[in-house]
Amino acid sequence: MKAEIIAVGTELLLGQIVNTNAQFISRECAAHGIDIYFQTVVGDNEQRLLESLQLAAKRADVVICTGGLGPTQDDLTKDVLAAWTGSNLHIHEPSMEAISTMFASRGIHMVESNRRQALMLEGSDPLQNDTGLAVGNALTFEGTHFILLPGPPKEMKPMFTNYAIPWLKSRMTDEIPLYSKMLKFAGIGESSLEHELLDLIQSQSDPTIAPYANEGEVTIRLTTRAQSAEEGERKIQATENEIKNRLGQYLYAEVDIPIETAVLQLLGKNQRTLAVAESCTGGLLSDLITAVPGSSQSFLGGIICYSNALKHKLLGVPMEVLEGEGAPGAVSVETAAILADQLLIRTGSDFGISVTGVAGPSPSEGKPVGLVYVGLAQKDATTEVFTLQLSGNREFIKQRAAKSALYQLWK
Ligand code: ATP
Ligand code: MG
Repeated sequence: MKAEIIAVGTELLLGQIVNTNAQFISRECAAHGIDIYFQTVVGDNEQRLLESLQLAAKRADVVICTGGLGPTQDDLTKDVLAAWTGSNLHIHEPSMEAISTMFASRGIHMVESNRRQALMLEGSDPLQNDTGLAVGNALTFEGTHFILLPGPPKEMKPMFTNYAIPWLKSRMTDEIPLYSKMLKFAGIGESSLEHELLDLIQSQSDPTIAPYANEGEVTIRLTTRAQSAEEGERKIQATENEIKNRLGQYLYAEVDIPIETAVLQLLGKNQRTLAVAESCTGGLLSDLITAVPGSSQSFLGGIICYSNALKHKLLGVPMEVLEGEGAPGAVSVETAAILADQLLIRTGSDFGISVTGVAGPSPSEGKPVGLVYVGLAQKDATTEVFTLQLSGNREFIKQRAAKSALYQLWK
């Protein structure tokens, strides 16, 4: 199935909002074996929207539109499609009832234009909106399937996943379903990982190998077509094994979970506790950990010792280590080690992780941007310090530092 996305909205063209809808839909489609060939952004303009729809219909089996289903005059998507296809618009009664009920319950007077949100094109199927008012439409016109969804992501996303995808899948029965498997890596950058697999990626067409990086982790998705999970598993086995041979040391999960979840699962299983001391990550590491439900079972807490004063007062790093002529400094092996050690002593945790580094944009203590030390202390073992040289902007360095610290513990 060849598909394309049309995101409607002048605010997208003006750069006031980012087209996250297209990103979400593309990823969902990839996971369901629907190939996206084009993404278009068009303003709230009748003529240009019509041109976009007609062009898309010529080259795609599926056209997915987001935006322009609201009540106002600039919300045109249904009107433009209705005019072009020569179909009438009628009110979808269940949606109209939901809209009236919502207005009544809030004691607000409903204006006539709100009825527009319940409109359906003749011959279309409704795509239910559980988080908003505008009903979505799914219809087939001259062999092309059209999916119309509202713009707000909190409405569009569940509608697409829960109603549009099943609608589309029921129309692609002749295709063999996709089977895919995710391998998750940390402690290695996307380009290094890709370099290690370049020959495989280039020569391999079944399964396909798709690496992508986000926020300090790299995911490889292996995809093939198969009638059953067993068949799928069998078809990707050889490629999967070869990838594991080459990169096994960085592989932390075979399902789509972030490294912090993998770390917490491991700590939980072994009934171990963790405390962290964060300098350059400024609380990000604690934030990642506590975003995982149930983290309280293993995570004791963290200290954000951003200044030298707090590194000294709260975690006992001697001032001679932190400052002064010839001192190692706050960003040093010595400081990372003391911070991690002191966590064990002062909190009684089984593991202590410290992160201290230069997030940028300018160097600090004469040390380059991106230099980060991760200290790892554990009961009855020698404390280790890992040196990282990360690249990117301040935000990226913080993120990579936090994820790398988790990887050191997981390892
Ligand atoms: P509404 O009833 O809110 O008017 P709508 O279906 O008419 O919904 P739009 O008016 O096009 O949709 O957009 C409403 C809001 O949804 C935008 O202001 C924006 O916040 C968000 N939005 C729209 N399109 C996108 C997109 N492609 N990516 C991310 N957010 C979007
Ligand atoms: Mg609108």
